[in-house]
Amino acid sequence: MNKDFFYEERMKIIESIEEMQQYSIQLKGKGKILANVSTTGFLHKGHMHLVDIAKKNADEVVLNIDHVDSYRKFQLEPNIYDEYLKKYRTEQLDKDLELSRQHGVDIFFHPDIRKVYISQINPIHVNIKKLRQKYPGIMFVDPTISKSNLKDFNMMMPNIVMMGQKDIFQNLEVQYMLTDFNYPIKMIMTPIVREPDGLASSSRLKSLSDSEREGARSIYQALKEIEEWTSYPSIGDIKEHIRNSIVKGNGSINYIVVCCASNLEELRYIDREAVVTVEAVFGNVSLSDNIIIKPK
Ligand code: AMP
Repeated sequence: MNKDFFYEERMKIIESIEEMQQYSIQLKGKGKILANVSTTGFLHKGHMHLVDIAKKNADEVVLNIDHVDSYRKFQLEPNIYDEYLKKYRTEQLDKDLELSRQHGVDIFFHPDIRKVYISQINPIHVNIKKLRQKYPGIMFVDPTISKSNLKDFNMMMPNIVMMGQKDIFQNLEVQYMLTDFNYPIKMIMTPIVREPDGLASSSRLKSLSDSEREGARSIYQALKEIEEWTSYPSIGDIKEHIRNSIVKGNGSINYIVVCCASNLEELRYIDREAVVTVEAVFGNVSLSDNIIIKPK
């Protein structure tokens, strides 16, 4: 059988929020498990890895496209937002649909963002506020993200949400929200997927020039080297090593944080499982990456 035809038949495309909710209720009524992979579109192998793992943990997988970043940027200029959406629909949507089919996504949920954000975008405040205060202006510059996660829970009503380790800080926020609001949803976090040169897969990589990309490799190179150290002298040494590597690659650093992997408290020593997380800018593209290390 023609593979494309098979996928075409199988994947359901839903644009209405109400239809999505009804579908989810019916599915769960049959005792089935629904997992959600939430993305901002422009799908790549990092996203699809989440789908592959979701498939192993659930009966059906709903992948959604949330244009929240662009909506936030353009909502005061509707014409620009309309142009963005038109461009997405003509140039990208088919590619995202095709990749979703290839990986066996069951439901492709692409709601009209104006219906999703009927009210203005504004922040919600739960437990996450403390985290934001701890890292002011670094990790949580965008309060809309948490709200969009909550909306996802209510629109798709999944049993499982898939989150990539790439956004480890955001994932802890999600876990707090699941707990604070008693959502019967389990979070599964999956490792970072990388390109052959080591960079974390991201739609942003396309915007790098060849020389910027060459320089950007310094992020993962530094992280990998740290992973291979036989002992961890001090947090300062770790940060210094990353800083030097990125500066050599002509990048500028937005932040380097070394913190506890389970509660994101900043650490003085690597005395437990820790996240080393970095955001750096090459050209005008900001890239983030992280590794999890254990005491040695
Ligand atoms: P985004 O579309 O960038 O908001 O990402 C949607 C989801 O895919 C998030 O849970 C990310 O952590 C995850 N993701 C993005 N890039 C990667 C990657 N290179 N490896 C693994 N997961 C990723």
